[in-house]
Amino acid sequence: MLSLLILFLLSTPIIGSPLGDYEKELNKEGLNVENIHKLLKEESKEVEEEFGNEDSKAEIEKLRSLYASTCPANGTLRPVKTELEINGELAKDLFEGDIVLTPEQWKVALDKDPENPMQRRQALSQSIQLWQPMGAPVIPFTFEPGFPADKKQIIIDSQRFWEQRTCVRFRPATSADRAVVSYNHNSAGCSSSVGMSGTKQTINLAPGCFSVTVVAHELSHAFGTLHVQSRSDRDNYIIVDTANIQKGTEHNFMRDPPYYGTLSTYGIPYEIGSIFSIDTNRPTIYTKPAYSQYQYSMEAPRATFYDTLLINKMYKCTDKCQNRLACQNNGVQDGADCNKCFCPRGWSGQLCDRRPADAQIVNLSGSQNLRVEIGDGVDRGFREKLYIIQAPAGKRIEATVTRVGDYQWSMCRSIGMEIVASKDTRVAGFRFCANSRIKPIVTDSNTMLVWVYVDNAYKFNADLSLRIG
Ligand SMILES: [Zn+2]
Repeated sequence: MLSLLILFLLSTPIIGSPLGDYEKELNKEGLNVENIHKLLKEESKEVEEEFGNEDSKAEIEKLRSLYASTCPANGTLRPVKTELEINGELAKDLFEGDIVLTPEQWKVALDKDPENPMQRRQALSQSIQLWQPMGAPVIPFTFEPGFPADKKQIIIDSQRFWEQRTCVRFRPATSADRAVVSYNHNSAGCSSSVGMSGTKQTINLAPGCFSVTVVAHELSHAFGTLHVQSRSDRDNYIIVDTANIQKGTEHNFMRDPPYYGTLSTYGIPYEIGSIFSIDTNRPTIYTKPAYSQYQYSMEAPRATFYDTLLINKMYKCTDKCQNRLACQNNGVQDGADCNKCFCPRGWSGQLCDRRPADAQIVNLSGSQNLRVEIGDGVDRGFREKLYIIQAPAGKRIEATVTRVGDYQWSMCRSIGMEIVASKDTRVAGFRFCANSRIKPIVTDSNTMLVWVYVDNAYKFNADLSLRIG
């Protein structure tokens, strides 16, 4: 009886768990799951060692107290779950928190020197396949049986999100297709394969994963992207606090080998505010002191300018364009349409030389309080509004955030405000979704952008105290 009970307890996580099915699939492909777990354990050890040395420990200690002193409304924040947290125990079998490796990718990793995690990483990264044809990739998609009809629109909207800004296209799969993305609602977490696996690959979506933010993020993994915090140059920007990581999932914070860097990043600068981050309620990642104002800005609600540029570069989206456009204000030729430019925030028009027609312009002549707001409590999906604050030429703008929202959120993923203080608006700004004690923000030109956004039926408002500096 006891042995039966033990057997039952041992097999419980496997039965009914999609990752149990995943482990079965790996077994079927001749992979020893135990070896995989051993490999992940080694990677976890590697992460602990990287951040466990005396220098890192001292820096983490400082960053913990800095976090405690600037942390908004401690203990009263409404928690926002990331994929890593939704995935919980499942993250133990995943790669970077929400990526499911294919049997072939595991084989590539296991064939490498078991003592050399960096070599394994490099082999894994190089095993990522892209969708074809280059320049105009098409991804056939389907839904797993029983996929809820009322959730399909979120999928279609997420696909359209990428179609509108890249050359990636989706079409319903036919029986002739081998490589297919299949949306699976019957899952315990949010996850995706990385790149094209060549057969049916699922994007797993548990109940907490149904938003354009999450689906578009998982889709980008299916395109072939990894997370920014695994970039080889990440140690210049962030530091990982392993004490706040769930035991056994530390390997998800492993760094890519340096020589792979330029291949995976396509020369795009490290962006703390990217959509490809895994921030959590208990900080697992601190921004380094020079970037401390970005602490609450990880995990963008929508792909940023650079996130989008990454996909367009990966798939050589603009290589086919016969014409060359003289894009202004850091715009680049649009991956979705050769006849226009893709504009950084605050710019619009064919050549990014105009302000967006729906932006609210605020001309600042002295000190002024400004309330920014969006949303009316009715579920209208994702809504956004841009305020462009302008001071006289040659002046700068200083903004103090005096109050944020009716509710306080732990992460600014579905609701919040982003302040862009640099003239170069390609870089994501500082996000706010709770009262904070972050020091005033000063622009490097006479313009400041304030972007407010809400998903679902939320309302958001904030008060800013502005002055010319
Ligand atoms: Zn991810």
